[in-house]
Amino acid sequence: MRALLIYPEFPKTFWSYEKILELVNRKVLLPPLGMVTVAALLPQHWEFKLADRNVREVTEAEWAWAELVIISGMIVQKGDMAAQIANAKQRGLPVAVGGPFASSTPDAPELDLADFKVLDEGEITLPMFIEAIESGASSGRFSSNGEKPDVTGTPIPRFDLLELDAYDSMSVQFSRGCPFQCEFCDIIVLYGRKPRTKEPAQLIAELQFLYDLGWRRSIFLVDDNFIGNKRNAKLLLPALKQWQIEHDYPFSFATEASVDLAADDEMMQMMAESRFDSVFLGIETPDEASLETARKLQNTRSSLEESVDRITSYGIRVMAGFIIGFDGEKTGAGQRIVEFVTRTGIPAAMMGMLQALPNTGLWHRLEKEGRLIQDKAAAKGVNQTNLLNFVPTRPIRDIANEYVDAFCALYEPNAYMDRVHSYYLKVGTPRWHQFLRPSTGAPKLPAMSDVRALSIVVWRQGIKRNTRTRFWRYMLDIARRNPSQLEQFLVVLAHNEHFLEYRSVVTMEIQEQLKTLPPELPPATSVEKELQPA
Ligand code: SF4
Repeated sequence: MRALLIYPEFPKTFWSYEKILELVNRKVLLPPLGMVTVAALLPQHWEFKLADRNVREVTEAEWAWAELVIISGMIVQKGDMAAQIANAKQRGLPVAVGGPFASSTPDAPELDLADFKVLDEGEITLPMFIEAIESGASSGRFSSNGEKPDVTGTPIPRFDLLELDAYDSMSVQFSRGCPFQCEFCDIIVLYGRKPRTKEPAQLIAELQFLYDLGWRRSIFLVDDNFIGNKRNAKLLLPALKQWQIEHDYPFSFATEASVDLAADDEMMQMMAESRFDSVFLGIETPDEASLETARKLQNTRSSLEESVDRITSYGIRVMAGFIIGFDGEKTGAGQRIVEFVTRTGIPAAMMGMLQALPNTGLWHRLEKEGRLIQDKAAAKGVNQTNLLNFVPTRPIRDIANEYVDAFCALYEPNAYMDRVHSYYLKVGTPRWHQFLRPSTGAPKLPAMSDVRALSIVVWRQGIKRNTRTRFWRYMLDIARRNPSQLEQFLVVLAHNEHFLEYRSVVTMEIQEQLKTLPPELPPATSVEKELQPA
């Protein structure tokens, strides 16, 4: 069987980082880990080609070669997913779809033309699909019916199918699922609340495979919550550290974790020693009442500011997500987020308006309250320029305007530089061999692509723009007071090349959507009153 795997195109988002990718001559931030995992789970006597539409078009030769087309994607990719299914069907090819979008909304109209729907986690449903297709079936829907697979048997993803030069960072996965129960989260719907992890040796074998393929850049552990199963994470980290030492620390790691990471010094120490240089935290909001409404209680147990500082002190840069539009939220939520981010200095603060994702606790509650303004098929997913898809408890225009103001304030060039400077004064010294190779004691040299990127940033921010005085003052200050973090300081300053432009995208797209809203859309309080029995 000749299987053509197609990964649909993403719309441009906060995380697409095009301007930064241009600087380092890469096309996309991360590869489609799900697709290469699917390829590893399918029979290895099949032949595979992978076309990531974020990197390039599918070629005519690939269409002509294929006997079967497999497409997988997330809710935000559904537009291109539908287009690629239609392309394949026009060519008379059978199409199988899977991934988070198909699993959460298998009856979405975008998937109507697909022949096979391979839902949920592939470890369980791909064998059903293989059996069906090999016995001559021309259609089918395969679901795990709530069963979650053990991932200790998952094979090494077929990283060899990727065009490695196109990606800035590589993806691997250690665990799936998260023990918490945030109301808006679809991770726990898709992957469950009992985190399942791979064996340490399994992950190390994946890293070794990437190393043997020549990969030498950063790696994102795409786990929903890397510390969801703390015991197993602590079994992995010593093995990871040892592997890194033996290979002269070829990879830096980033991941996502819950805020309670800050309460576990042993974990932070182990992560820092394995060369984790950043971690994404879902902080969501500094408003405690909103955290309680969202059932994100783990974020209310200790000071969020102190948590950020503790993680930072281990030399691990904090990135964070923030949400506006929670029920009961008071005016000024956007400004309070700006103040929190400014106080903590978090450089990359991702903001979005609350979205009810299909099948989440939030979705079910709002459905019951009659407040959804989209059906499942119309849900667009989390994108930084999507308005709320439900009737909020305060005017939607106020939320949208606060959001735009907060986003623009966070990435105003001088404010961004001030924040990054204050943050990098606090970032702890790296706990790995940053400058020397452990194997030989020889110095490490920076990659030419990094040197080129840094020169462009120095030219733009330090010479061309009116940030130049700040740039040199701050750079010299970091060089003097926290020299081991100078390179990272410049890298993070470079990130604003993307945010600068993204500010106008956010403003324009939100204003466009506001224009289409009916003027009288009432806040939820009055809707609720109407719904209440007399
Ligand atoms: S901590 Fe993160 S992954 Fe876990 S339930 Fe909450 S939002 Fe989802």
